Amino acid sequence: MAYVITSLCKMEAKCAEVCPVEAISKGETQYYINPDECIECGSCEAECPHEAIFHEDDVPAEYQAAIAENAAFYA
Ligand code: SF4
Repeated sequence: MAYVITSLCKMEAKCAEVCPVEAISKGETQYYINPDECIECGSCEAECPHEAIFHEDDVPAEYQAAIAENAAFYA
């Protein structure tokens, strides 16, 4: 399990800076979390001013595609 960044990301936060395992990378339109590296600490979720980050179990229905999109970024 991992945290997931959705398309609500405005690419202006410090999520990548607070991640203790450097699991967050910058994409073309948003940041992404590597599900194989995330240790589910929740630090990035707390840091995001746009509430764009969710635990995989709590991603809203309209943003479910983000789970696969985050994983695909690292595939
Ligand atoms: Fe990194 Fe923690 Fe966010 Fe996972 S939950 S991406 S380990 S800051």
